[in-house]
Amino acid sequence: MKKQTHKKQDLLTNRTNSRLCFYAFSSLDSVLSVCEYSEHTLGEKLAKKNRENLVNQALMCYNYNNILYPVKAYWFDETKGRLLLMERRKSRKVKVGNLYIGGDAPITIQSMLNTPSTDIEGSVAQAKALEAAGCEIIRAAVPDMPAVRLIAALKEAVSVPIVADIHFDYKLALESAAAGVDKIRINPGNIGDESRVKAVVEACRQRNIPIRVGVNSGSVEKSILAKYGAPTAEALVESALYHVSLLEKFDFYDTVISMKSSTVQTMVESYRLAAERCDYPLHLGVTEAGTERMGLIKSAAGLGSLLMDGIGDTVRVSLTADPVREVYAAKDILRGLDIRKGGIQFVSCPTCGRTRINLIQLAEDVQEALKDVNKDIKVAVMGCVVNGPGEAREADIGVAGGVGCGLIFKKGEVLRKVPEEELLTELLKEIEKL
Ligand code: SF4
Repeated sequence: MKKQTHKKQDLLTNRTNSRLCFYAFSSLDSVLSVCEYSEHTLGEKLAKKNRENLVNQALMCYNYNNILYPVKAYWFDETKGRLLLMERRKSRKVKVGNLYIGGDAPITIQSMLNTPSTDIEGSVAQAKALEAAGCEIIRAAVPDMPAVRLIAALKEAVSVPIVADIHFDYKLALESAAAGVDKIRINPGNIGDESRVKAVVEACRQRNIPIRVGVNSGSVEKSILAKYGAPTAEALVESALYHVSLLEKFDFYDTVISMKSSTVQTMVESYRLAAERCDYPLHLGVTEAGTERMGLIKSAAGLGSLLMDGIGDTVRVSLTADPVREVYAAKDILRGLDIRKGGIQFVSCPTCGRTRINLIQLAEDVQEALKDVNKDIKVAVMGCVVNGPGEAREADIGVAGGVGCGLIFKKGEVLRKVPEEELLTELLKEIEKL
């Protein structure tokens, strides 16, 4: 590649020919090369330049409508010989009940009750189930005044923060704040004149209650839709920042933003743009993602892309399913990305012609039995004794199937041979001891 000598600023404003560009730096002021390669290829190129002491940093930029937005910075790790993400996006830290969203706070998992707001008993039971599953923030719809009663009941029943989800009626926000809710989701542009926005802001400020501005493809204002022709990423961001600006007018900054789309690409683009344009914490989610399987896949793709960019402070996986499933899905995504420690990391082989036990059933049984276990261990369920222990050498504990039997192994070392029907029990016994 031809060596370039432009200033970084020139490049950021003038070069416009790809959606994702990587810029490599020897320092943050001089650009050594402009690359339009994959991360992997760039890594190899930088490895060579790094050996010549030329490059040790890179910046990935996102090209949207011919304007470049730096989205993530890398540094070159010599020992690993590849680029590593520099850091999580620095966002404002907002207090929500007994925890924080943003800044250096851990990425939290949210879900939403789907019981009728009039069903206090059912809602409390569901909130308890969500809390037990590991949900860290629970949202409840507050569609009318009688629903405000639910807030006190939920606060009494669980210790995780409660969010009131409100549309259009600012009085519901005032009542929810008075009822002790920990956060309010409301779009100030939808509640009427400035005096109402001011009233909500004051009620929240007095009680240190943050507000989430949540826009989605269906809620973008008509004027913004007319400007962009569709609920594009740019339209979603403009809508969100419009609502945010109404709060800023009254010096209110304890705001969290979400911009959800059911299209993964739009959702990812909109969060990347917002990450560049403001420092508010971001609540990630793919909305109307679908039933459990497709919803999990779309959420993993969308949330995963952003979280790996260092973008995102709290997540909700939306599934057309029991909300408890959303919590397990979000936990699995965070664990799969190695963002969240604690809990079982589960490894199982895909099975092949060597498998001689009912491994698929065994893997499902083990995973189900361990779903609420919080030990920070890696468990492997492998199909054969030939490759199993070796393939899962990194696991703390595991099984490897034989013919009608299996081996229990620990850190790659065999502990004992067990009949197939006892493998589950014996494995769980060993896990108990860890
Ligand atoms: S662990 Fe054994 S059974 Fe499982 S995929 Fe590998 S070789 Fe096949």
